[in-house]
Amino acid sequence: MDFNISDEVKLMQESVRDWFKRNLPLDKMREIDQKGHPMPKEVIEGLAGLGVIMGVIPEERGGQGLNWFKQAAIAEEIGYGDPTAACAAAFMAVMTGWGFTLDRYASEGIRRDFIRPAIAGKKFIGIATTEPGGGSDVAGFKSKAEKSGKNWILNGEKTFISGVEECKLWGGGYWVNVRTGPAPAGAAHKNMTSFFVPIDAPGVEMTECYRDAGRMAISTAGFTMTNVKVPDDYRLGEEGKGFYYTMEGFDNARILIGASSVGITQRVIDEAIPYIKERKTFGIPLAKNEGIQFELSDIYKEMEASRLMYQKTAWMQDIRYDEEGWLERKGKAKTFQPTDIAKWIAMLKWKAPALALHAAERAMLWLGAAGYTDEYPFQMAWRGVMSYVVGAEGGQNIQKIVIGRELLGNEFVPYK
Ligand SMILES: Cc1cc2nc3c(=O)[nH]c(=O)nc-3n(C[C@H](O)[C@H](O)[C@H](O)COP(=O)(O)OP(=O)(O)OC[C@H]3O[C@@H](n4cnc5c(N)ncnc54)[C@H](O)[C@@H]3O)c2cc1C
Repeated sequence: MDFNISDEVKLMQESVRDWFKRNLPLDKMREIDQKGHPMPKEVIEGLAGLGVIMGVIPEERGGQGLNWFKQAAIAEEIGYGDPTAACAAAFMAVMTGWGFTLDRYASEGIRRDFIRPAIAGKKFIGIATTEPGGGSDVAGFKSKAEKSGKNWILNGEKTFISGVEECKLWGGGYWVNVRTGPAPAGAAHKNMTSFFVPIDAPGVEMTECYRDAGRMAISTAGFTMTNVKVPDDYRLGEEGKGFYYTMEGFDNARILIGASSVGITQRVIDEAIPYIKERKTFGIPLAKNEGIQFELSDIYKEMEASRLMYQKTAWMQDIRYDEEGWLERKGKAKTFQPTDIAKWIAMLKWKAPALALHAAERAMLWLGAAGYTDEYPFQMAWRGVMSYVVGAEGGQNIQKIVIGRELLGNEFVPYK
């Protein structure tokens, strides 16, 4: 494994940092955070212009042909640029993690009409697994689809979905899981099929947006599906295999969330250090106090460990796709089993956002009253990154279950 960041990636990272400095400096970020969603479209078009949204899609399908190692390094930079996590959350991590996975299982029509425009920042692609009945139990949902000639008729409801308002405004659609057969006892993941559902398909109705604690620039809402007709062409991969494709999508999105959380932590550190060096209490700089210095060192150590972790997961995923095929699954992963990669990704998803949350909280305390204001990005970061800790792309306990399953075996999974 080579830890060197290539010149190509360095250049992309620099252009991302420069873009954020010019287009989303802290005062603009604060303005967007206060105004709330929808995210201004030019933000996404600007990011797309840098080739960083779905850059990991192979060039022949309209992406940049990056690998996960490179895409994750860019994700870190996006987290650094936008510590509110709003840009990283839905527009980079969701569109890239799920868009890449979608592209592997989608028809040419979906690629042409939705994925390519989304790569250009013109449309939105999201994921809709969560239902009013719960989100952690990915196979425990109610939405269903029935075959009708060459079409499928979908009914159900999805909730707590990122980007629904933006998707409605700009066009696009969602990866949606539905049941296409009864859930066998003890094997609810069977008979689960994934579809792509355009947001403007007749019968899709957006539900009211939630008032979230953070990530204010992105909407979180839901939608109902009432007799929504989609062609068989909009089915992703094989009927009944949706659970496996969905796990792959989660893994890809979680790598990017882990990497962008490292970027958020780095930004918090970089914003806090000048203040604690400068500010004196009782005649000495804050930074001279062990109480603060040791906390900073601890966060820095954990951040470097998290960075190594996202690099390792991305490297493992690259080997997997080299073996399976990047465009579609042709071969089998040999070097690392996808479940083993998932264990590493779960450790990253558990660790990196929780660290960014902790760093933002400690920075507020180091700076005192100043840190609690919006003169600094800490409270926006704290509110934004909390979304990943609470549940976006899987709650913390779910990551622990994935790790436990790999350590102890399937028979020790708590919900079985
Ligand atoms: C800001 C935001 C954006 C989101 N965007 C999307 C999106 O775009 N698409 C989408 O599909 N979903 C989205 N979600 C939903 C997210 O996927 C869910 O929040 C997540 O899956 C958890 O589901 P839940 O919120 O229903 O919590 P529940 O499943 O009800 O769980 C509640 C709590 O219990 C814990 N828990 C659950 N089961 C167990 C267990 N067996 N053992 C121990 N603890 C357990 C969970 O970790 C959680 O802390 C988003 C969530 C947030 C906060």
